[in-house]
Amino acid sequence: MRIVTVRRISQGFFLALFLWLCVAATVGPQWWQLRGWPINWFLGLDPLTALTTLLATGTLYAPLAWALATVALTALLGRAFCGFVCPLGALNQLTGWLSRRGAKPLERARDNAHHRLQGLKYVILAFFLACAALGSVQTGLLDPLPLLHRSVNLTILPVLDARTTVLSDEPRAYESAWTLGAVLLAVIGLNLVRPRFFCRFLCPLGAMLGLVGRFAPWRVVKADQGRCGDCRLCEQYCEGACRPSGELVHSECVMCMNCLSQCPSGRMGFAARPSAAGEQPVTDISRRGAIVAVAAGALTVPLWRVGALADTGRSALLIRPPGSLDEERFLSRCIRCGQCMRVCPSNIIQPSLFESGVQGLWTPSLNFRTGRSGCQVNCIACGQACPTAAIRPLSLEEKHGAGEYAKLGPVRLGTAFVDRSRCLPWVMDRPCIVCQELCPVSPKAIHTRTVFEPVRGGTASVARLQGDALDLATQPPVGLNLGSGDYAVRPLSRPDAIPRRILAQAGSRLTLDRPPQNWPGLTRGERAEIVVRLQRPYVDPARCIGCGMCEHECPVSGLRAIRVYSENESRSTKGRMLIEQRRTEA
Ligand code: SF4
Ligand code: SF4
Repeated sequence: MRIVTVRRISQGFFLALFLWLCVAATVGPQWWQLRGWPINWFLGLDPLTALTTLLATGTLYAPLAWALATVALTALLGRAFCGFVCPLGALNQLTGWLSRRGAKPLERARDNAHHRLQGLKYVILAFFLACAALGSVQTGLLDPLPLLHRSVNLTILPVLDARTTVLSDEPRAYESAWTLGAVLLAVIGLNLVRPRFFCRFLCPLGAMLGLVGRFAPWRVVKADQGRCGDCRLCEQYCEGACRPSGELVHSECVMCMNCLSQCPSGRMGFAARPSAAGEQPVTDISRRGAIVAVAAGALTVPLWRVGALADTGRSALLIRPPGSLDEERFLSRCIRCGQCMRVCPSNIIQPSLFESGVQGLWTPSLNFRTGRSGCQVNCIACGQACPTAAIRPLSLEEKHGAGEYAKLGPVRLGTAFVDRSRCLPWVMDRPCIVCQELCPVSPKAIHTRTVFEPVRGGTASVARLQGDALDLATQPPVGLNLGSGDYAVRPLSRPDAIPRRILAQAGSRLTLDRPPQNWPGLTRGERAEIVVRLQRPYVDPARCIGCGMCEHECPVSGLRAIRVYSENESRSTKGRMLIEQRRTEA
């Protein structure tokens, strides 16, 4: 079998495997859904993720140690990962190939000629490494594996979810998904400009592998310069634009192996010897560009943190998933792969925009207005799915603050605050107890205080009293369901009297829970007052875990009348509710 055929089969296999692992990162009852499948297998193989998190945190998260296998493979064979494994590389190659079917040899030669701007990816890599060294991991923005995971998880699969219930039993939505879709479209679309444009000019992982594999003992070489007919067929089909007919640039060879199959006289080969036409280990990199990139990274991160130093860096609106590290450490690990967002059965983990500043773009934050519920009490899926432990893999015991975690208490995401200017029982005299009923904490973190408030236009003269029926001289206000059990009546002259509950209403006749005969102040001709029983919610900050059930279920649409803010989040002392408390605990 030809090596190019092997490469194509390999690319197809790994692309299919990648897509299947994305699909498998969905909570559900099917065997192919989340069942301990290695959904982070590709991310674990990513040496750029391993290196940058290592630089930023000083530790290597054990599952990322698999990246050493990729490094070893590259050091031995060159960028085999780019040519045979990388799923985004496969997509780029496919698009580039499709768009150039029938292209003329001159066009092919022009498109696949080595370009000095291929050094740009090394500059990007230098910038990202400088950022990581200062504790901010930004590689996920352009690293092909997190980029493709994020794009598939948050744009492609949700589009399928909206049309079929095969992958997920309910549609899933992600805010600003269009920005992620636009990035993917741009990456794919750039292949129309040059084949594998992203791989050649932008990919920081490709740059890193190029540097690792530049002296690989086994590599693509030209066997014999003298017998070369200079047909340049190899260059016409070279996916890496690495100049195979001339001074071959090893760091750029993506091992597409097209040169081996195209060379009519079989002079191109894969061997452990130098290329006959000469070699260049790495593409020309502008030293000035690399220095500027490192300096930019070194300056940018402190600039991003100026706000944090002034204690303005913490947004009360930024609620991270349960188990998330404190903000600084979180940003030194999160690669924006979107795995947590895909696995969350509640669909409340959303890609944030700038709640955490520029460096937090597309990192996960909770939005309780979206999805199906708040953060489910018995769910720890996001921490289990995170490939870098930016969200720690919690146990249920730790999340609940049970057993050995009893002293620490439950994991808190924030605290719910009642917005009295929007709350139905507080300002609109409408009965509502949804938030209190749905609070999953025991004893409940939301309690209510009952008051009776007069209904607007709800006073009328008593026409007749008979048994438990009270006839009013005029119709009570329309639009209110007086028989709902939330309304009561009392003598207008006795506002301190305990009102009698209205059980039913028929026109101006009210049926009360007890016969009102001999009730002081309520006889024929006297005025009665209809009141509504309101249970006004209060939050106990000592019990609230910020799960967002209340916010999700609050019937006030748009901005909910009870909302969770990050105050009191477990992950950081900076998030303590009271400033004094924060200072003491810091
Ligand atoms: S623990 Fe909460 S936020 Fe995390 S996946 Fe489960 S429901 Fe979603
Ligand atoms: S926190 Fe979410 S987006 Fe960030 S690395 Fe972990 S799984 Fe990926």
